[in-house]
Parts: sequence; C-alpha cells; structure tokens
Amino acid sequence: MTKLPRNPTREVKIGSLAIGGENPISIQSMCSTRTQNIATTIAQIKDLEKAGAGIIRLAIDSMKDVQAIMRIAEQTSANLCVDLQENYRLAEDVAPYIQKIRYNPGHLYHHERDKPWQDKVKFLADVAAKNDCAIRVGVNCGSVDPDKLMNYNNSDTVSPMVNSAYEHCELLDSLGFTRYCVSLKDSDPIKVIELNRLFARQFQHVPLHLGVTEAGMLPDGAIKTRIAFEQLISQGIGDTIRVSLTVPNHRKAEEIKEGKRILEDIINGRVRSVVNYNSGKLNIISCPSCSRVENEAFINLAEQVKDLTRYAENYGVTIAIMGCRVNGPGETDQADLGLWCGSHYVNLKHGTEMIGSFTYDAVLIELKRELDKLISEGNYKS
Ligand code: SF4
Repeated sequence: MTKLPRNPTREVKIGSLAIGGENPISIQSMCSTRTQNIATTIAQIKDLEKAGAGIIRLAIDSMKDVQAIMRIAEQTSANLCVDLQENYRLAEDVAPYIQKIRYNPGHLYHHERDKPWQDKVKFLADVAAKNDCAIRVGVNCGSVDPDKLMNYNNSDTVSPMVNSAYEHCELLDSLGFTRYCVSLKDSDPIKVIELNRLFARQFQHVPLHLGVTEAGMLPDGAIKTRIAFEQLISQGIGDTIRVSLTVPNHRKAEEIKEGKRILEDIINGRVRSVVNYNSGKLNIISCPSCSRVENEAFINLAEQVKDLTRYAENYGVTIAIMGCRVNGPGETDQADLGLWCGSHYVNLKHGTEMIGSFTYDAVLIELKRELDKLISEGNYKS
C-alpha cells in the first residue's frame, strides 16, 4: 500500500464533511433525477449516501426547483450542493437549505448581461458566507468564459480554462472568501491532467474537485476517469472526486463504487498507466486486470515480481506489469522496466526498448538481471 502524497491545500468545510488539508479524498456524485420529483430524488440521495457519497449535488434552475430542495432538505441529512445553471440569483433563496453552491464562470454571462461578472461573484460569495456554505468554481470545457476564449487562439483550449479559474480564485480571495474549491473538467482525460496540473502549480493551496466530464458508459467512462485520476492523485493533486457515468437512475450509486475502486487501486499500485509516486523507492505497479488478460498466471507473476524485487526497495526504479497485448505494449513505455503478458510469453522492456519474450518462469530471472544492471549504473539510489 502506498501513502499518497497530498498537496498542502487548505481545508474547506462542506456541512459535516471537510475536503482538502489532511482529510481523506472524498467521493461525490450528482442526482440524475428531476429535482422537482422529490420522491425519486430522495430515493437516489439515499442510494448515493449508502454507497458512501460525501456530497450530493442537485441541479436548480427555477423557483420550483428551490421549493423542491426545501422539501428534500427536510428529509435528508446528506451534504447537499446545488448546481446553479444560468439563474445565479437563485442562490439566495436556496442557500439556507444546502451546504455548497457550485457556479460555472461561463454561465455568469447569460442573465443581467450588463452587470459585470465580478458583481455576480461578490453576490454569490456574500450569500455563501451568510448561509455557512462553501463554493465550487466549476470550470467546464463546454461552457468556458466567452471573454477568456476571445483572448486565445482557437487551438489553445487549456489556457482559457485555467486562466478563468485563476481569475475567480483571485477575486474570491480579494473578497476575503476562501471557503471554496475549484474543478476543471473536460471529456478528454489527458486534458484533465494538463488543466489540473497547471492549476495546482499556481494555486497549490486551493482544494481541487477532480472529474472527467461526459465520461460516458461503463466500462469506458470508468477507464477514462481512471487515466486522469491515476496521474493526478499519485502526484498529490485532488481532494474530492466524481466519476461521471451514464447509467440508469437506479444504478447511479455505481459512480461512488467506481470512485472507491479507483482510489483503492491507486493506493495499492493497481494502475493502467505508468504512475510515479515520487517516493524515491522501488515503485511496482500492475494493472487492475480485466477481461483482456490472456493468461491468469499474470496475477501470480505480479506477486512474484514484488517478492523477487524486495531487495531493491531503496532504489527509485519503476517496474510496470500489464496483463495484455492491447494496452500492455504502450502502457509500459514510461516504466524503467516493463512486463506485458501474452498467452504464453511475457515481454520484457527497458523503457520503450524491447529486451525479449520469455516464459512466465524465465522472465523473472531476466527481470532480476535487468534490475541489477540498472542498480549497478548508480542512477536510481534513493
Ligand atoms: S493492461 Fe490489459 S489486462 Fe490490464 S487492465 Fe489494461 S486492458 Fe485490462
């Protein structure tokens, strides 16, 4: 089990939960029921809570939605977040009944077009402060601040999003409101990694809510999310997560279960991409396995590699063991030593370079030989 590094973010309280700081990474979700359909929304909130959701988000866009939330709040003690759509002023009516307000910087332009967005953020910060609520600044690839988009070339889709987040953090800080977190979501996991890394470099103290938007159905939705989370969480980035899945309403709790699975796998080094935990110690990662595994001996091999290489625990070498020919060849490229398994042979690599194919037994001897060679080069001592 790996002790994950964590960025020194500040703690933000959201009802009975706190994110950031030393708090464990929490898992959250959003109801997919119509907010005004109170009975089904309550039922979904209960399902999500039972699965372990720390925060549950509900969409609102009208006074009828606000009235529904008043009744929902009477029937649950879950930490509720409302997702403001375009009508930001509803925050004032709903805030007494909830614990967190999410606004999207890109949506602040739609109502009261002549009013500067800064005044609208000030209004939201005042409402949140008066009602003991936290805020999430939720930047989304599909609705980026139009002013920011105008300042960058069309091919640069990252800068407008991170700069929009920076600007809102600076404004909230200048207003003296620090009880907020940020999210930067895209449907492309690689972009999610880039956006969040950039933001965390500049605003290391601001808690981050991680997610891949429109990730889709299982299993692809979970795989895309996993790719982003593995690279970010292993580097200390991320304080709360959401796995967005397209599932029927009665299966919504799978978002939470999948989030738990991904977190546990990252902690235990069961990853699909090469992850460097930056511990300066021997880093052995193996894929979580799936239906593509061609030989069950892969699981045993991963255990044997752990046992065999124990003597090298103080050397910062990354060894990746992947279960199939589909993703194994590419996913091992970033490791110092990579093993990807076929039906009868295991392919051993040094970075992108192929060393050879060996039987499941013989590969252990070859792996040790290569590991000893790396150690003797003297570049990996912790
Ligand atoms: S490397 Fe292959 S076997 Fe392992 S999880 Fe990925 S696709 Fe499945």
